[in-house]
Amino acid sequence: MTNPQPPPTDTGVLVVGAGEAGVRVATSLRELGYDRPILLLGDEPHRPYQRPPLSKAFLGGTADHDALVLRTPEFFHEAGIEVRTGVRVTEVEVDDSGAGSARCDDGHAVEFAHLVLATGARARALPVPGADLDGVCTLRSLHDAEALRDRLASAEQVVVLGAGYIGLEAAAVTSARGLATTVVEREDRLLSRVSAAPLSGFLLDRHREWGVRFLLSAEVREIDGDAGRVRGVRLADGRALPADLVVVGVGAVPGTALAEMLGLKVRRGIVVDVAGRTSHPGVYAAGDCTVLPHPHLPGELIGVESVQNANDQARTVAAGIAGVAPPASPVPWFWSDQRDLKLQIAGISGGADRYVLRRSPGSAGLTVLYYRGGALIASESVNRPKDFMAVKRALGARRTIPPEAGTDPDTPLKDLITDRA
Ligand code: FAD
Ligand code: NAP
Repeated sequence: MTNPQPPPTDTGVLVVGAGEAGVRVATSLRELGYDRPILLLGDEPHRPYQRPPLSKAFLGGTADHDALVLRTPEFFHEAGIEVRTGVRVTEVEVDDSGAGSARCDDGHAVEFAHLVLATGARARALPVPGADLDGVCTLRSLHDAEALRDRLASAEQVVVLGAGYIGLEAAAVTSARGLATTVVEREDRLLSRVSAAPLSGFLLDRHREWGVRFLLSAEVREIDGDAGRVRGVRLADGRALPADLVVVGVGAVPGTALAEMLGLKVRRGIVVDVAGRTSHPGVYAAGDCTVLPHPHLPGELIGVESVQNANDQARTVAAGIAGVAPPASPVPWFWSDQRDLKLQIAGISGGADRYVLRRSPGSAGLTVLYYRGGALIASESVNRPKDFMAVKRALGARRTIPPEAGTDPDTPLKDLITDRA
């Protein structure tokens, strides 16, 4: 005799993925007065949590699980949002209106009027032999961070693969703990995907002062092991690096399986428009699983993997479902904390045709201002929060800061904001 299937849940909105974007879609819908049932399904076993502290305070041991909580169970209960964790949506189908049904790995079926894909991204696996050895760790989930934090207690020699945000934030933690830390990066500079050479050079100098060793333009050939445990990293040029812990931070891969099942347009991530609509006008997506129109390069798509983007896209999606006007276009912004360095980025620098530097000789901070066609489009600041705020304000008002004046580090940028030509 087979077990009878539970009856399908009937919901107004099914949100797949209980991360930053999924939670915000659900909470924004309620703020906008949406009164039908909302079901938030997430495949991780934990209550919805924030990822940024995982590579910073949580890894460093100064924040615990409570500090990660996005919203409490009481909050969801009061808001009338049903949250189910540890449940993966495995199949989904929709009709022309976007209504449809989904099936979960626990056997449950869900029927919905609206579907939001907020499936995030997963850590890219290292495509080399030995990547599955014990002691080779990625850092995407709370589960990953717990495992890595445990290993730090006994590690002595750490090799970090990738000098993106994950790699640099992890190296900042391991070097602060006095662990011998080597970062291996395929490109010839740090944070090459998202920032300009002066910022790369600045961060390189500071990490080196902390004792971190960098091998740039270096390719990993394999991970060496002994009895199933990592022993070292071998590079393509033959160099061998001893390691009892390897942290892999070589990028994120958007979660597109359900979108592909639905036949939605996928180009690395799920393609959405500025309203968060996928290529099926009744199906929405938000957060790290998406790619959206590039703000400066017509026809190009960009993945904006940040808390701000996840939240702002989610608010826009909620407005679309609730049938109200979308919020004003936000200014993208990002941050990264690496020991005493607070990196803050406003705008998207891709497409810039010029940048200028703003830095006092010998100072512990700098700002890079990016321009396209003479207009300010973005900035990167380290330990210069007022510069960051001024640029964010200028971009939000679609105004600019003259590049020549901007280079004077002693003149507040807020005093230089002016109309675009
Ligand atoms: P996610 O947070 O990835 O959530 C998606 C969820 O959906 C996941 O739980 C996933 O398991 C689940 N899911 C996927 N498929 C299914 C399915 N079929 N069924 C059910 N559930 C599913 N950004 C910043 O701006 N600043 C920072 O300092 C910063 N630090 C970071 C540090 C770390 C270690 C990491 C990993 C990221 C960091 N980010 C930071 C990026 C930021 O956390 C992400 O941009 C943000 O979490 C994206 O939210 P999301 O909801 O789109 O995706
Ligand atoms: P990332 O920013 O894409 O950086 C990965 C780096 O690793 C790239 O420079 C990449 O070079 C390099 N790389 C790729 N394969 C390599 C290899 N085999 N050997 C050595 N280097 C290699 O990705 P990430 O740092 O892993 O971050 C993952 C996600 O988390 C991103 O979405 C990121 O935005 C997010 N995150 C954000 C923050 C923050 O905002 N503060 C903090 C942590 C994480 P190529 O470009 O040549 O591939």
